[in-house]
Amino acid sequence: MIEISENIDKVVESYDSYASTLIGEPHLAQMVDLVHQIFFEKGSGQLIRRNEKSQLISIRNGAICSEINGEQLKITIYAETSESLHALRELISHYAEEHLSELALDWTASDELDAGSLPPTCRVATVVGVERLGQLFIRVKLCAEKLDRYHHAGLHFRIGIPPIGRKPVWPFLSENGRTTWAKGADKLHLPAFTTVSVNLERNELVFDLFSHQNGPTCEWAEGLLAGIDSRNEILLSGPGGGWMPPQKKLLIAGDETALPTIRRTLATANSSDDVIAFIELENLMDVKLIAAECGHHVRYLDRSRGESLSDAVLTLRKKKLEDRYLWFAGEKTDADKVREVAKSVWHVPRGRRYVAAFWKK
Ligand SMILES: Cc1cc2nc3c(=O)[nH]c(=O)nc-3n(C[C@H](O)[C@H](O)[C@H](O)COP(=O)(O)OP(=O)(O)OC[C@H]3O[C@@H](n4cnc5c(N)ncnc54)[C@H](O)[C@@H]3O)c2cc1C
Repeated sequence: MIEISENIDKVVESYDSYASTLIGEPHLAQMVDLVHQIFFEKGSGQLIRRNEKSQLISIRNGAICSEINGEQLKITIYAETSESLHALRELISHYAEEHLSELALDWTASDELDAGSLPPTCRVATVVGVERLGQLFIRVKLCAEKLDRYHHAGLHFRIGIPPIGRKPVWPFLSENGRTTWAKGADKLHLPAFTTVSVNLERNELVFDLFSHQNGPTCEWAEGLLAGIDSRNEILLSGPGGGWMPPQKKLLIAGDETALPTIRRTLATANSSDDVIAFIELENLMDVKLIAAECGHHVRYLDRSRGESLSDAVLTLRKKKLEDRYLWFAGEKTDADKVREVAKSVWHVPRGRRYVAAFWKK
């Protein structure tokens, strides 16, 4: 067990799960900056306190506290559940390894960890339904245990598809609480998706996959549809990646990969909300199907006729963006263009925009 320092702020008192790690020189200041960057500058965390000795950032469902004591930095992370604690620990450890000369963090946690077992953020899921949805999409229904967090803790998740012809090798917890993934021939393919719906009574989760015909995920889903792929056990890892944007005054734009988020957002918008929405599609054959849920707010763009999402968004006048939340997700080049203009030309504050690359050409 670890001790929470006595003067810890009110903000962390409500969290049941916590873990801490100690870091020495030469990484001390760099680590504090890295946490600041991940959760505040690039993330949507709130900076509660930052001075020479300590930093406290509050995030959705948790907090990260950094305290410098002499030549040691103690990072304590707090979360509502052991699942979100694990996700947070993984994220910070991953960034430390990537950016601080492969610094391996050793964590002490409030929760007992069962080395060798499936990590708390992962479940093995069975495909119990797969059907074509219009011309462009495939709807997949998974059955897995403990899906309750998919209801509220994050809209997105990753699936892990085992390589063809290999017995699945699922990730497991190492002695120090890290997720260990299979490598080489057993490496899982791990694309991200968005929850369309969850049925907790039936332990079912539904997602829609854009069948762009290019990668291993489409090959897998098309194979399941045709009854020629036997990989109906996959990994489900998550949830994470934030929630739907506020609808009252919103510009929301995305392509097929963003459609599940856009649909869910528009389905809960009131008719009095001031929403501008763009959806770019490979072609407009499925518009009727999509429009049934999205309502009248949307302008559809036809990629096969050269219409582009970033062009549509970037031709809006700056005035239109005033006080408006900007949500954009699509191909990386498009997302980069929109992010740059949003930051440097429209000056949309960080807390009022989400611009993400959902895939890369
Ligand atoms: C937070 C988040 C949520 C997402 N939610 C969804 C979702 O609900 N539904 C969904 O369909 N996608 C979603 N995506 C996008 C999806 O993860 C990517 O499209 C991913 O690349 C799919 O993996 P893949 O195996 O098809 O292709 P990869 O193995 O990643 O790439 C293989 C090839 O396919 C191409 N490719 C990948 N995506 C596309 C595309 N959209 N159009 C054309 N070519 C493509 C790549 O350029 C590459 O050449 C989401 C992504 C993120 C980050």
